[in-house]
Amino acid sequence: MKKVLVFGSTGSIGKNSLDCLRKSREDFKVIGLCAYSNTRVLMSQVKEFSPRYVCVVDEKSAKDFESACDRGVTLFKGKEGLKEFSQLSSDISVMGISGISALEPLLANIRRTKRVALANKETIVCGGSFVFSQARKYKTEILPVDSEINALYQLLGSGKRFERVYLTASGGALFDYTPKALEGVSVKDVLKHPTWDMGARITIDSATLLNKGFEAIEAHNFFNLKFDDIGIVIHRESKIHALAQFQDKTILACMYPADMRIPIAFALYYPRRCLNRIGIDFSKAFSFTFLPLPRKRFPLLEMIIDAAKKEDNSLVCLNACDEKAVDYFLKKKIKFTDIYKAMDYMYGHYLSKKLSSVGDIFYWNNWASKKTEEYLKTLC
Ligand code: NDP
Ligand code: MG
Repeated sequence: MKKVLVFGSTGSIGKNSLDCLRKSREDFKVIGLCAYSNTRVLMSQVKEFSPRYVCVVDEKSAKDFESACDRGVTLFKGKEGLKEFSQLSSDISVMGISGISALEPLLANIRRTKRVALANKETIVCGGSFVFSQARKYKTEILPVDSEINALYQLLGSGKRFERVYLTASGGALFDYTPKALEGVSVKDVLKHPTWDMGARITIDSATLLNKGFEAIEAHNFFNLKFDDIGIVIHRESKIHALAQFQDKTILACMYPADMRIPIAFALYYPRRCLNRIGIDFSKAFSFTFLPLPRKRFPLLEMIIDAAKKEDNSLVCLNACDEKAVDYFLKKKIKFTDIYKAMDYMYGHYLSKKLSSVGDIFYWNNWASKKTEEYLKTLC
């Protein structure tokens, strides 16, 4: 019986993980759940899974939760509580906290767990080298949950030599919009992802394709691939998640339905395969499309890959800028296209510095976040 901690249990990844775990009670025991402030969902999860440990990061929500919490549960509260929760031992930890806030708990938890099922991507984009060196030091396995990276893991894990890989992109909610039409899109329009049901930020990042840039950076970090060997192809159906090409141009594809429970279960069970009922249905006709990436329409993808090649603090600054700009857009303070303006502004104004410690990541994250906010206020 493997002991599992779920970080970000109330989010999209967290809920999908718990759905896998509820079907596998003989293999896994959920020992800890952690959320930011959604105590309503957290409470129902606690009732169902009876974890020994619970963490609520928002102080006020933690106080409310405490009064409703059972005596048998150890409750960790606030940011300090998250630090302690991250030091609990587990066999597997699912990292489903969104944003750069996942970095400290991830680094702390790598010391205490045998395997991280890693969904969070901002930690790899901003601090990949720190995360992987910590994992090497403590001999902790990191299994990618992000579907494209998980698919690459399944393809490249065979140890075969490939010359090039492709990540697929659905193109997001606005793929068919003209540049002019993008000006007027609403939050609701952008959140209508054609194939995936995910948290708000990643859904918006899928529409700008910044998310695909993040995935190229994940692929680079996980598999030591050169950026020039990572292609991106539009595949609207999101059934093939990655492809790997040999030098004789034979291509292997990794295909499964657009359902995050599949890569999550893969990461929980690896190297075993779990019994799954959510397969692709070949009893109905369907076809796949592949389109070349219209690069010019997605300037943030180009920008983020360009930044990644600099090997400086630019990825931290751009991630912080995007996080802030997406938050402003979700709160309807700016237009969708202002996200592009903010990113252009940040890329033109950040000061290039090397990152020599995790502290540097937080320094530049805070710097860029403030700078973005100042800029966004001029657009509101
Ligand atoms: P959600 O916004 O749906 O969920 C985020 C979770 O993290 C919630 O449980 C939230 O708690 C918690 N959280 C937020 N901030 C903090 C914090 N400061 N401290 C502790 N917990 C916090 O995000 P997703 O599940 O969509 O995404 C999670 C990560 O996985 C992201 O990095 C995303 O890019 C990545 N990912 C997601 C995919 C998906 O299908 N959703 C696919 C591939 C990657 P609360 O609910 O209380 O606010
Ligand atoms: Mg993905």
